[in-house]
Amino acid sequence: MAIRLGNSCMNCENLTEKKECKIHMVAVSNNYTCDHFTMKATLKDDRNCVTCSRFHETDCANPQAAAPGMLCTHWAPQNAMA
Ligand code: SF4
Ligand code: SF4
Repeated sequence: MAIRLGNSCMNCENLTEKKECKIHMVAVSNNYTCDHFTMKATLKDDRNCVTCSRFHETDCANPQAAAPGMLCTHWAPQNAMA
């Protein structure tokens, strides 16, 4: 199974501005995730190569096709830490 960058507390809808989880009521960081992970609606609506952390990077899955408005299953949010 592939390791994915996308499911982190940092892009979860349950994260507050104080970096606390609304579900667990504790401080979390981008190293955490859980089964309650819900992708932020703003990221859902804006997923394309321009908002992908792999755009113009060596780990882009489709460097020949990557462009604004394009999207593939390897998309990862820009605030994800490798
Ligand atoms: S612990 Fe789970 S529910 Fe809470 S912010 Fe992280 S991924 Fe979201
Ligand atoms: S082709 Fe896929 S991996 Fe490459 S920048 Fe676009 S969404 Fe990201």
